[in-house]
Amino acid sequence: MRRKLAAGNWKMNGLSTDMGEVAALPTSLGVEVLICPPATLIDRMVRDPNTFVQVGGQDCHPNPNGAHTGDISAQMIADAGASHVILGHSERRQDHGETDALVRSKIDAAWSMSLVAVLCIGETEAQYQAGETLDVLRTQLAGSLPDGAAPGNLVIAYEPVWAIGTGLVPAMAEIEAVHGFIRTELATRFGTDTADGIRLLYGGSVKPGNADEIFAVPDVDGALVGGASLKAADFGAIITALDAAG
Ligand code: PEP
Repeated sequence: MRRKLAAGNWKMNGLSTDMGEVAALPTSLGVEVLICPPATLIDRMVRDPNTFVQVGGQDCHPNPNGAHTGDISAQMIADAGASHVILGHSERRQDHGETDALVRSKIDAAWSMSLVAVLCIGETEAQYQAGETLDVLRTQLAGSLPDGAAPGNLVIAYEPVWAIGTGLVPAMAEIEAVHGFIRTELATRFGTDTADGIRLLYGGSVKPGNADEIFAVPDVDGALVGGASLKAADFGAIITALDAAG
């Protein structure tokens, strides 16, 4: 039985004055809620007595420490009290040239600190138009995932790059086919029991207005939400929709 997960990716947004958005989220629902704020807010969010959410980082360096100005290690993220870390987000892949091999080494680093890795994979618009989606995902999974993936250390977010922040969303049948494909790929490599336990999130322009239909898609165990996770009214509605999806 996979517990539903609503994950918010605040990206480079959020100041101490935004903490009220977390405190205002619905509580006592049967779903897990994770927020990945900028690194500057991790400690504050973990310690805030008014928040019940799990807290994650948005990236980590493969090394535990060293001369890497501006980077943050998995050790630091864990030390700040976070439980998860997003890795391989398309904005990291695009803006920082991250390869599958680098993402894989970051997942190893996350696991060495007992952080749950939220691995993002997804095709670009050109790849989608060329019908290459499944090939791209197969390559990203094979290259990014170390051995040892398990339901307790991994969440996978399918995020079509062309759907992030654009208001565009694939057809529900496409999301279903892709999530089914990812689970089959996981089963081939890690076995059916492991694959059946790993949560698969959809990400890309999830909003209160489309959450119900996305959460009704088989093999969608929740969402990774960017823009709509910044305001409690929107993210709260998405959390409530996920809870209602059962
Ligand atoms: C994201 O960046 O992970 C994301 C899903 O963004 P948005 O919800 O804004 O499309």
